Amino acid sequence: METITLYPIGYVVSPVSEVKDMPPGGVAAQIEVLPQYQPGLLRLEENSHIWVQTWFHQAQRDKLTAHPRGNLHMPEYGVFAIRSPARPNPIALSLARLIRVENNKLYLERLDAVNGTPVLDIKPYFENDIVFSPRTPYFPGKTRTSQQDRLLRQALAHHQEKCLSLFLAVRMALIADEIFGHLNNPELMINVTGSACLADTIQGLTRARLANPPRFSYEFSSSLQQTIWTLDGRGTLTLTWLGNNDIMECADEELFSMDFKLD
Ligand SMILES: [Zn+2]
Repeated sequence: METITLYPIGYVVSPVSEVKDMPPGGVAAQIEVLPQYQPGLLRLEENSHIWVQTWFHQAQRDKLTAHPRGNLHMPEYGVFAIRSPARPNPIALSLARLIRVENNKLYLERLDAVNGTPVLDIKPYFENDIVFSPRTPYFPGKTRTSQQDRLLRQALAHHQEKCLSLFLAVRMALIADEIFGHLNNPELMINVTGSACLADTIQGLTRARLANPPRFSYEFSSSLQQTIWTLDGRGTLTLTWLGNNDIMECADEELFSMDFKLD
């Protein structure tokens, strides 16, 4: 078989050194590019986000199927259909926000590779890379907290500010996700009444568009914060904020009046 030789262009510097200690989504980290490759970083700082390819040197290379997110309740998938670290060529692909470049050091907001991971390549992330509502299988997090963390990261990536409505949208989406499953289901209709921030974050979390296909409708209100979720054949969920500002701390019932009507 043909052999391809790759040389690391740098290494990850991270406070986390064990794979088992890495939180989902990663932690703040740096990439130290080897001095001979530093000219390749020229003007990289003009980009806010970069693709980072690393080599998962501790990964298993003889597995071709695995459970998504290590969740044993999910059926097995082929390794090319999921992002399991176990694969014949354990190349990891991460999208990271680039905070700053200092000489040969890249400071990243978050990276899920452990300390010492070899870096194979760095590429800028372009606006054209966005597919707003791709079709993907539904892989929920192992726990409610991990699912909420994922929604929070997705909400922030879209809305870009930690405002009250963003947290409200995350809590609403978490409840809807538990009832309806995949929030980007093309059959799931969403109606938002409330702030523009609520509408924008819900749109980012659900990938629901105003048209083609029309899944989203919005009406501005300064007094009401409400989402209505409808899935044909399943039912309609109405969530109305009760006004409690302690959004990430309270129980669902303290936060919303919830009404679910089965079809
Ligand atoms: Zn906002």
